[in-house]
Amino acid sequence: MMPDLKKYKNLISFYGWLTLLIGLGITGMISYYIYSKNYHEDQMRFEYEADEIWKRIQFRMDRYEGALIQARAFFLSSDNVSRTEFHRYFEKTKLTERYPGIQALGLAVRIKKDDLKSHVKNIRKELPHYTVWPEDHRNEYYSILYIEPMDWRNQRAIGYDMYSEPVRHEAMKKAMLSGLPTVSGMVTLIQEAGSRQQPGFNLYVPYYKENVPLKTPTERANALIGFIYAPFRANDLFTSILSESKLNIDVEIFENGEMKAENLIFDFDGKPNFIHSEKVNKFRIVKHVTLNGHDFILHFVPLPSFRTTSDLAYPSMAAIIGLVISFLIFRIFMLTKKTQDVLQEAINARDEFFSIASHELKTPLTSLKLQAQLMKRTLDKNPPNFREKIFNLSDQSEKQTQRLERLVDDMLDISRIRTGRLTIQTERFNLCDMVTDVVGRMKEQFSVIPGGAPQTNYISCENAVGEWDKMRLEQVVTNLLSNAIKYGSEKEISIEVQATSDRVYIKVKDNGIGIPLEFRNKIFERFERASGTAKSITGLGLGLYISEQIVRSHGGRIWVESEVGKGSTFTVELPTIAG
Ligand code: ADP
Repeated sequence: MMPDLKKYKNLISFYGWLTLLIGLGITGMISYYIYSKNYHEDQMRFEYEADEIWKRIQFRMDRYEGALIQARAFFLSSDNVSRTEFHRYFEKTKLTERYPGIQALGLAVRIKKDDLKSHVKNIRKELPHYTVWPEDHRNEYYSILYIEPMDWRNQRAIGYDMYSEPVRHEAMKKAMLSGLPTVSGMVTLIQEAGSRQQPGFNLYVPYYKENVPLKTPTERANALIGFIYAPFRANDLFTSILSESKLNIDVEIFENGEMKAENLIFDFDGKPNFIHSEKVNKFRIVKHVTLNGHDFILHFVPLPSFRTTSDLAYPSMAAIIGLVISFLIFRIFMLTKKTQDVLQEAINARDEFFSIASHELKTPLTSLKLQAQLMKRTLDKNPPNFREKIFNLSDQSEKQTQRLERLVDDMLDISRIRTGRLTIQTERFNLCDMVTDVVGRMKEQFSVIPGGAPQTNYISCENAVGEWDKMRLEQVVTNLLSNAIKYGSEKEISIEVQATSDRVYIKVKDNGIGIPLEFRNKIFERFERASGTAKSITGLGLGLYISEQIVRSHGGRIWVESEVGKGSTFTVELPTIAG
């Protein structure tokens, strides 16, 4: 039975740890799975949003391109479009209202060197201060002739030859030769004034003569009349495109093929994330794009708002739930193991009891046997003092029989307690008298103590009258006194009875070995004996258990105060009337 229990306990412990380990493993795996799934989803969402931004920019530029091509068609539809007609056309398109970010819509015409004078003279009829500038000598000139809206900013651009400035020149030439809408590099727009200047660019749509071949770059260069063009302020344009809906990711736009501060033309959140993006951001996209013939770099990183919509809290939640469940299961295993421990302890105590009990029963039996043999021999020999000898031997036998009787009585009491048959029969008596009687009866046993019978101290004995089971309380006092003798190291013993109006106290004090703290409550349990010095002293570990049951069935309490090596004081508290 015992080895099995031990094996069972070890198994429980093993499975407990195993479950914990598996639980932690599964928790880790689930958390990691959720984390990587979320990470993947976040990344996809990030890529999707970055792509959306790029699409929105393209879509808007397509619209502008469309608007410019439409304006070109307007110019082609008539031989001579007047300034007023163009103004009305522009008003009707509502371009600046529908797509804020565009600064103007204009027409730049090509003028051969020889035609310049007549051209200027002609235009001065409607605009007296008109001139083509810068005024230095060139082979051909491109003059901004029409521009809408005709506000003071745009009026500044009239007559300006964009072809004279290298960045614009490059884009115009590209548009002229390819026949395609072309975006220029970053410039400071002519319209730009005041302190809050920002980079801008132009979009050119070439405007050719009709009914001439336009297949080759040369044919196109020869057929060119001018350009329909639109200037944009970069910051205003991109802000207008991106403010259409809430962004969770930041976009920075660069030109000139390199991500550095001087090439930055737009930054959505105004923070230069491109500098340390690798270290700081989990997600990052660098996209090289071409927009109407001009190259840009788009740099995307998540904004703080991107994180709040991501599901990074779930893995930690899963981890916490997993940990709690794993530890709960582990705890259940350990509690089962603890129950097994308690069971084991009980079995150990019972086994020890059997060994002590058989020893306790064997000692008086051996003496009895010896005494019977001695008696037989004495009777055989018939010595002169034979009566005296036989008397002594039967006296000793009687004592051993009494000892045996006490042991059997104790064991009977235990079975009575177990089956609930320990009943008390009350009668009225004075506790002081009862204690005096017991002390008197035990006189002989006190002979080992130098002072003999214990010191008695009775306080208020007139109140010590009550209703209790006399026999049972005698058993308790006898037990406490014989323990005081057994464990009292042959030192002085005292007993005190103290009575109040409704309670009585019996205190038995010795100056013996004392009881270690850890045993103080255990000694009142069945078969329990304080280990150590008590081992050498005979006893079944039943006395205090029975005493406590008796006191309890009177509605009272018993407890001990003790100091190891100095002694113990057992106190019985009883209500005046048992119940
Ligand atoms: P027993 O004395 O037969 O062992 P008890 O139930 O009377 O059984 O006592 C239980 C245990 O309590 C004892 O084995 C002993 O270790 C301890 N004990 C009881 N009384 C005293 C005492 N006065 N001083 C020290 N230890 C005591």
